[in-house]
Amino acid sequence: MSNMSSGKRFQGKVAIVTASTDGIGLAIAKRLAEDGAHVMISSRKQKNVDAAVDQLRSEGLSVSGIVCHVAKEEHRRKLIEETLNKYGGIDILVSNAATNPAFDAVLSTSESVWDKIFEVNVKATFLLVKEIAPYIEKRGGGSIVLVSSIGGFVFSGLLGAYGTSKTAMFGLTKALVPQCAGMNIRINCIAPGLIRTRFSEALWKDPNVQADRLQSVPMNRIGEPSECAGVVSFLCSEDASYITGETIVIAGGQSARL
Ligand code: NAP
Repeated sequence: MSNMSSGKRFQGKVAIVTASTDGIGLAIAKRLAEDGAHVMISSRKQKNVDAAVDQLRSEGLSVSGIVCHVAKEEHRRKLIEETLNKYGGIDILVSNAATNPAFDAVLSTSESVWDKIFEVNVKATFLLVKEIAPYIEKRGGGSIVLVSSIGGFVFSGLLGAYGTSKTAMFGLTKALVPQCAGMNIRINCIAPGLIRTRFSEALWKDPNVQADRLQSVPMNRIGEPSECAGVVSFLCSEDASYITGETIVIAGGQSARL
């Protein structure tokens, strides 16, 4: 068990984490399971789902998996059904999937790339919350965390459309607060900085590119997925029982404001 965890704070709870077969999502799934939750893992590719489930089960964790491309309605429906069939309810949702199909200056972004980014990053997040919140309410309440990005605060040259979609997630978090509060659901957001995953490889693999990126990071290192997972565990826990509508930046001191 991670030495950052504080006992079995999610014993008996059920969590859905999307895009959870690699990187930040996998680290979140692992951490919530270490903290006692039953976790439903998912992503687009069956082989990735199988590998992640095998890995976490080999560590003695309670996880299941299913294919779910978050932008596909049928996949989201099956994800929810499978979770209810397996575990009898849902207490926690972590919406982690995102895409960035191209690196373009914002005015050079094609309409199809723009649509894809907003479909996966914003619309599918909204739909997941809309579809899953009633089940969390049925359990008497719970917690939702959206995974945004520091890119929603700080706009670097070729990530303008992606960054704008991540800014929308800050707004979506705020917009959902009143109705979620009425359902006894807290909804918060995280904004990771540069974290060591496949998704961000172009920003850290080359030492020169990494050094350039770290100029704006006072801690002078990139973050690890587990450093996001600990914050998500906190936000979903009773330790955060009076926190809703907030975005926590996880970025080694990098300044982040709009
Ligand atoms: P990653 O390591 O590349 O992992 C991405 C995961 O998402 C994989 O499990 C992938 O599996 C799955 N996936 C991709 N598209 C999907 C879709 N449409 N539906 C469902 N699953 C999908 O990426 P990551 O860096 O952990 O990124 C996770 C989240 O963190 C994203 O929201 C990203 O914007 C955010 N973030 C990352 C960083 C960073 O520096 N890494 C910084 C800020 C924010 P399949 O290929 O099997 O689908």
